[in-house]
Amino acid sequence: MQFPAGIPERALLIHRLMMNPPETVYTDSHRVYCDGATDIRAGAALGHPRVWMEIDEKGYVECGYCDRRFVLKGGPADQQAA
Ligand SMILES: [Zn+2]
Repeated sequence: MQFPAGIPERALLIHRLMMNPPETVYTDSHRVYCDGATDIRAGAALGHPRVWMEIDEKGYVECGYCDRRFVLKGGPADQQAA
């Protein structure tokens, strides 16, 4: 069964954004993509069109659709770096 196009997905996306703060994803690659899907929650069918982004000299990039932040491991924005 599929959702009808439009409102239900949008309502669910808004719900998801309200219920969950933006994620931080650590990556080894300067070039990342985001489609809003997640491996963790059951929301993999939601999300947004896939977009590719380049991590710049700040060491991170944020998705303009869902605010997920991609942090380069070991880069300037990696708070976990030793
Ligand atoms: Zn995204």
